[in-house]
Amino acid sequence: MPARCLVIQVLACDTTDAMRRAYLAADPRADVVELRLDLVRNLDLDRLLSARGKPKLATVRSRQQGGGARPADREALLRRALEAGVEYLDLEFGEHDQALLKGQGRARRILSYHDFNGTPADLQALHREMRQDAGEALVKIVTFADAASDLLRMRDLLRSAAPGSLVAFCMGAKGIPSRILAPLWGSAALYAPARGAADSAPGQVPLEDLFDLYRVDRIGPGTRLLGVLGFPIGHSLSPRVHNAALGALDLDYRYLPLEARTMAEFLPLLSELRLSGLSVTLPHKETILPHLDALDDSARRIGAVNTVIKIWNRLEGFNTDAEAGVAPLRSRRTLQGAHAAVLGAGGAARALVHGLMQEGARVTLFNRTPSRARDLARSSGARSLPWSRLRGFRADVLVNATSVGMAPDIDRTPVPASWIASPVVYDIIYNPAETRLLREARARGAEVIGGLEMFVAQAAAQFELFTGRAAPLEVMHRAAQGEQPSPPARRRRR
Ligand code: NAP
Repeated sequence: MPARCLVIQVLACDTTDAMRRAYLAADPRADVVELRLDLVRNLDLDRLLSARGKPKLATVRSRQQGGGARPADREALLRRALEAGVEYLDLEFGEHDQALLKGQGRARRILSYHDFNGTPADLQALHREMRQDAGEALVKIVTFADAASDLLRMRDLLRSAAPGSLVAFCMGAKGIPSRILAPLWGSAALYAPARGAADSAPGQVPLEDLFDLYRVDRIGPGTRLLGVLGFPIGHSLSPRVHNAALGALDLDYRYLPLEARTMAEFLPLLSELRLSGLSVTLPHKETILPHLDALDDSARRIGAVNTVIKIWNRLEGFNTDAEAGVAPLRSRRTLQGAHAAVLGAGGAARALVHGLMQEGARVTLFNRTPSRARDLARSSGARSLPWSRLRGFRADVLVNATSVGMAPDIDRTPVPASWIASPVVYDIIYNPAETRLLREARARGAEVIGGLEMFVAQAAAQFELFTGRAAPLEVMHRAAQGEQPSPPARRRRR
């Protein structure tokens, strides 16, 4: 990480005692601790500021800038913090903070601007205007990323600023990559709360994840970038699983969540972030096809990709879902001649049905919208039956490839328990790890298989395509099950 990038741990506690405790327990990797004084209900400033530890940044965010302070209280609090000797003081652009900005007191000033609704069209003009007011102060510009390309505008702003003079990144799900890459792009600081602590802005990445998962301190110009493209992407396990694997093998790649609603929105990122590989999820598995130069057999047969690799400027599409979807079944029984009943006719069902047919299984499809089941049956060689025929339908294995029962609707199940007649039930949903369908099938004596196995298998196949290295399966399994990464061992900087 560039030497000039300060790591600022954000504390957004709501009581003096909680904030004091959190301050005293600050992460050792933080250089400075930001105290969001406007969020403390029973503020005892003397008690808080008397705690000895890391340098303090006093922030009193006004309501206008997304905080909780009234203008009158704000200025008085900032003055008291300054007199008490805080090392850093946050002031707001446009809040008439001139006197505090240029006045006495040794605190380093940060002149900040927050936009929770979007990213201004002319960031450079905003920066110029702030710079004029700022004098010796650091300038901080934080905006909400409406479009994926806002990240690129933030990057360009950082690159155009004098080194060490500007802190800038985007908020929101689409802004997450900018929080991870800001130090590389030249931001003078990064802001992060501790894991499990209260958030103070959308899209914040916990400090532990920045260091232990994204290894932000070792991202350099040679670091290769990967990511998962989808909408929405906030729930995705992929960044956790892939970064854990990359970290375990000490590979200089980072894997980012890349949220974009449309391909048109995403395309500038694909070229400008110099991504070397992508996982692709809903709703882009098919819409990305026209942008690819080549497809592997599986992607061509299924008509959808979940993996893209970029070699020079050539984009190649793969589908690791079909193989990964059948692997958990094949490891338990032979699929040649087996009879599978598959629920669903969406993207995942399509991959699974192709995978099962490839293994020599016989497949019967059921779907809420019968015409989609018929279309999939026609294109794959399976057969389809009306949903009502599921009652008591006995196959060797029943596969749920619908989204029914997925979080947050975990109390739902695609089939009533009394209809389950197959000895093996496989649900490809991985969140929750055990769905209601699986619980009820187990209670009826069926062998059950959850979706995490498929998830890890498809991620492992992607990892091998991205890096050319064997995937560390155990690490990926543990990350998929929610194990937090431990701090990477100190290795030589690449
Ligand atoms: P999709 O393309 O949106 O398809 C959704 C399927 O669920 C369709 O067949 C849809 O039926 C059916 N469905 C939705 N709501 C329903 C309801 N209320 N009642 C009955 N059927 C309903 O989604 P997908 O990509 O195929 O994903 C499906 C599930 O698989 C998701 O939960 C996803 O997380 C999971 N998945 C897991 C893995 C893994 O690695 N384990 C990989 C990919 C996907 P209609 O055709 O009638 O709309």
